Amino acid sequence: MKVSNSTPDRILKDVFGYDYFRPLQAEIISNVLKKRDTLVIMPTGSGKSICYQIPALIFEGLTIVVSPLISLMKDQVEQLHELGVQAAFLNSTLSFQEYNNICRRIVAGEIKLLYMAPEGLLTERTMNMLGKVRLDCLTIDEAHCISEWGHEFRPEYRKLVSVRINFPDAVCIALTATATPQVQKDIADSLKFESGNKFLAGYDRKNLFLQIEMKDTPVTQLVQFLRRHDSQSGIIYCFSRHRVDELSTFLAGIGYSVLPYHAGLDDNVRKQNQEKFIHDDVQIIVATIAFGMGINKPNVRFIVHYDVPKNIESYYQQIGRAGRDGLSADCLLLFGYGDLQKIRYFIQRMDDVHRQRIAEIHLDALVRLVETYQCRRKPLLQYFGQEYESENCGMCDNCVNKAQKTQDVTIAAQKFLSCVRRTGERFGAAHIIDVLRGSESQKIFDFNHHHLSTYGIGKEYTKKQWLFLSRQFISLGLLDKDAQYGGLKLTPVATDVLFHDQKVVAMLPEKKTEMRQVTKIKDDYDRILFEQLRNKRKQLADRYNVPPYAIFPDNTLIEMSSYFPQKLQNLLYIHGVGQIKLKKYGAIFLRIIQDHCNKNQITEKIPAKSILAPPRPKTARHILVGRAFAEGKSITELQEIFKIKKATAIGHLYNYVLEGNDIPFNHAIKESIAPPRVREAAFDFLHTNGTLYLKPMFDFFKGKIPYEELHILRVCYLCRDTGAMPK
Ligand code: ADP
Ligand code: ZN
Repeated sequence: MKVSNSTPDRILKDVFGYDYFRPLQAEIISNVLKKRDTLVIMPTGSGKSICYQIPALIFEGLTIVVSPLISLMKDQVEQLHELGVQAAFLNSTLSFQEYNNICRRIVAGEIKLLYMAPEGLLTERTMNMLGKVRLDCLTIDEAHCISEWGHEFRPEYRKLVSVRINFPDAVCIALTATATPQVQKDIADSLKFESGNKFLAGYDRKNLFLQIEMKDTPVTQLVQFLRRHDSQSGIIYCFSRHRVDELSTFLAGIGYSVLPYHAGLDDNVRKQNQEKFIHDDVQIIVATIAFGMGINKPNVRFIVHYDVPKNIESYYQQIGRAGRDGLSADCLLLFGYGDLQKIRYFIQRMDDVHRQRIAEIHLDALVRLVETYQCRRKPLLQYFGQEYESENCGMCDNCVNKAQKTQDVTIAAQKFLSCVRRTGERFGAAHIIDVLRGSESQKIFDFNHHHLSTYGIGKEYTKKQWLFLSRQFISLGLLDKDAQYGGLKLTPVATDVLFHDQKVVAMLPEKKTEMRQVTKIKDDYDRILFEQLRNKRKQLADRYNVPPYAIFPDNTLIEMSSYFPQKLQNLLYIHGVGQIKLKKYGAIFLRIIQDHCNKNQITEKIPAKSILAPPRPKTARHILVGRAFAEGKSITELQEIFKIKKATAIGHLYNYVLEGNDIPFNHAIKESIAPPRVREAAFDFLHTNGTLYLKPMFDFFKGKIPYEELHILRVCYLCRDTGAMPK
């Protein structure tokens, strides 16, 4: 597809099928087109890829995309092919011949986007090859890998600056989803960006519901959570391989569609499991943190951290794999103080003081996040240097709980504080709560705490409620927490509460608060139609061996099941449908929608945005030809009137119907010379395989039906689809 004389707006609609740019995309693209080095920090799922893909289609020369992961490259390139974009990757998985073939196409200027890992790019062989082409843009994805301060430092990234020196005319765009202010500076410095053109979008992922729970009865907590996510895709992260195996075996045993993923598995098995997840053949992946880096699946609906993640950056990256499609997703983190202890232990054993210091800073921030009783978004965003202004996000456990009013909890406070006192001001909240609730744990007996007067006097509240209260006691200044061991100590204010009748007012969550209703993705769409479209998508995806979302993302199917478009042209109003996908799959999906609507007497709804974004004005020629034909002229007559060849005339008719204009089927079919049996077979074939290419149908008929006739049959088939159904 040649689009180099096109504008970003047109490419957005024609190639990607989207109506509007998202925040910052247009500004970033224009900055890159002006050849100004650009640093982009935008959260996962916000649409970073388009920021370099659109310039790449406009630049005359080549755009290189440096990406750390081979699987991510393959995925991106597949999706670009689906959109009709000439992209390729070069890496070690290619055979010698494939490799050479791609190099040849690059040198011939046939490739617009080339994906590579940094190691590959830095080889002499690649550099020599690139010496023969015009390089317009160097894109560095996951740019935080450049910085030692980041959580995924990769030394090869540091060397990329040499590529810049060799190609002074190429603009550089560096993108990442996570970079603290320090990492941002590091990226710009190491790539020698001239002027700091930085685009920073909010880190807030509004569509993610964040929930952090004390790890209490983890298996039960997990299963309850999964019950609310029936048949939705999700990832469960665990600390160790052993835990992954254990948990996935357990879940499989109780009937879940689940597979494990970790570095201990055979390469092939791991790859297969990942593929199955991407292709919706398995619902859940239980994984160590290694999983997800290389996947781009937009409809991951939940993430569970069965163990505490290493730091906020990993947490943010991992939850970032959910809800890339913008629909809401649920993130649950189960944390135990034991887990934190484990991380602390690792940090203490590090020999590099510098890295140890970084790790400590990271861990403290994580503790602030799990312990806060304020909105979770506050500490999370603060970590990345952003203030979260809103008081109630409505999308985290604390904010949902906070909806309840504050109340007098003086008695509870007195019980808690006196228990802290009687146990010697050296235990953490978890142990105090155990004493108050009369737990029979070994630790209680070891310390003789079952003889205390406060033993068992707090059974009216659940562990979770006590924990919630205890965090508030800390932030109200009744207690101090030992930074290293987490032991609680009384403050002077506590004395007032215990002995001078000072009142304490705080929030008290209800006993069963956290069981929020299942995430509502979007409610008002036709589920039955959605399922039918989804099945068709799966079938096509399997046939072409691409992931289902490369055909259409969930949003597209949801919009189809909300607006019920009845004409091919109107499919263009649907999110994610551009010209190429319209040609490839439009008729197939349209037929399903039409059938469903006919059966259930549903009429088309025009989405509001279609009024705002009218389809492009049509070029005159094929409209004139099409109209004349629709009014009753034959193809031979068209040839004479317009002085065109037969093939050209049929081409115009094809474009005419594709754009949603009607031609009476009974008139069109007169042009076909094939017997009815062949016609029906052809229509069936187009129905299952799409109308973009005719070669497969030519082969299907073993070459016995000439192309010209196939072209005519395709027009006839589309006439049926445009509403002029034969009676
Ligand atoms: P990131 O790289 O920032 O994680 P992607 O580039 O993968 O995000 O984009 C996330 C999703 O958003 C993709 O499905 C993409 O097609 C979609 N998207 C990007 N830009 C737009 C837009 N302007 N309008 C609608 N959808 C978009
Ligand atoms: Zn909140």
